[in-house]
Amino acid sequence: MRRVLILGGGFGGVSAAHVLRQELAEDDEIILIDRREYFSVGFRKTWALLGISPFADGQRPLKSLERQGISVMRETITKIDPAAKAVEVDHGRIEADAMIVALGSQLAPGLIPGFEEHALNAYDAATIPEAKQRLDAFEGGIVVVGIFGVPYSCPPAPYEIAILLQEHFAARGLDFSMQAFTPLPMSLPILGDAGCEVIEGYLAKKEIRLHPNRKALRVTAGEIHFTTGRMSYDLLLGIPPHRCPQVVVEAGLAKESGWVEVDSRSLETSFDDVYAIGDLTTIPLANGKRLPKAGVFAEAQGEVVAKLIAAGFNNSESTARFEGLGACFLEIGNGEALLVEGDFLAEPAPLVSLTEASSTYADEKFSFESERLLKWFGK
Ligand SMILES: Cc1cc2nc3c(=O)[nH]c(=O)nc-3n(C[C@H](O)[C@H](O)[C@H](O)COP(=O)(O)OP(=O)(O)OC[C@H]3O[C@@H](n4cnc5c(N)ncnc54)[C@H](O)[C@@H]3O)c2cc1C
Repeated sequence: MRRVLILGGGFGGVSAAHVLRQELAEDDEIILIDRREYFSVGFRKTWALLGISPFADGQRPLKSLERQGISVMRETITKIDPAAKAVEVDHGRIEADAMIVALGSQLAPGLIPGFEEHALNAYDAATIPEAKQRLDAFEGGIVVVGIFGVPYSCPPAPYEIAILLQEHFAARGLDFSMQAFTPLPMSLPILGDAGCEVIEGYLAKKEIRLHPNRKALRVTAGEIHFTTGRMSYDLLLGIPPHRCPQVVVEAGLAKESGWVEVDSRSLETSFDDVYAIGDLTTIPLANGKRLPKAGVFAEAQGEVVAKLIAAGFNNSESTARFEGLGACFLEIGNGEALLVEGDFLAEPAPLVSLTEASSTYADEKFSFESERLLKWFGK
């Protein structure tokens, strides 16, 4: 009997567990560890925040994976020993024959003084109910959606949040204006000038003014302070800085970049039989940019490492490789969405484009979630 340890039951970890169970012998053990009780996709937070659909509709208990022969431990991982392929949790130490590190990125609002006190965190499931109450009680004024650090998960999401929030307040008949800011020189640099013009055009249509090159230093009551200048707000929705989880840094898995550097095709780390997938990795692209952090990539990477581990256990070869192909839905209002899609590992530069907007894509976004919940967790 062999054992695989999966650290983290998010997009990457659950996807890996699912494929491993199909590929491994019945008596090989798969243990998935997560401190959270439930899985849900990232954009559920936006839907819950804006009252589009409740959180509970998109949550599945990780424990239900046990029906498929995957052991689930609800524990906090306090130490990772990659050389020994072992972890320490609150109740002891667990060793394995292979390990997948899929702990996502850690939100670090504390890096921006005043963020926790004054901003609503748009990316933290735990704070969404309170943020929703604040949105519901909002009576008008200046609304700001701000990106407080890069890289962050799902680069189009803040713009989607801004557009949907604009519609939400307009439907309530509030008197308000909206602005957004990013430390980057344009909305989504991976799209190039032409793609950014499209995104920024959708923002302009909703009268959302985007301020690029704005690096926020701190937040005080009613004001965001940048390296140069300030911006007033009555309601501030923020995307906090993201960091590699501390437990991963302490294990020596993160390198100079601050993130885990892996082989871009096999997701191997510098430790034998230890793989890292998803948001905590950094993967260079041919144009010098980095692979965006997105659930679709974590999912595909989980499938690849599961096949590689299974092949290793069975003394066979696997051709599984991460291809860097992915698409992400971006809701642009009026019941429509478009796809940001591409071949991100293409040479000599990533091939990324935007589709036309349509209501079909908005419907497909719902199916994107329901198909995965059904495939991974059953009915
Ligand atoms: C608003 C929003 C919208 C998004 N929309 C999209 C989209 O449309 N398409 C898309 O592809 N992506 C989207 N994303 C991004 C997507 O959610 C992430 O890229 C994806 O979840 C990353 O997967 P992961 O497996 O790396 O990490 P995660 O899914 O974050 O999972 C990590 C898991 O590790 C657990 N964990 C962390 N530390 C510990 C510890 N010490 N002990 C125990 N457990 C621990 C966490 O509880 C968590 O369950 C969106 C994100 C947000 C916030």
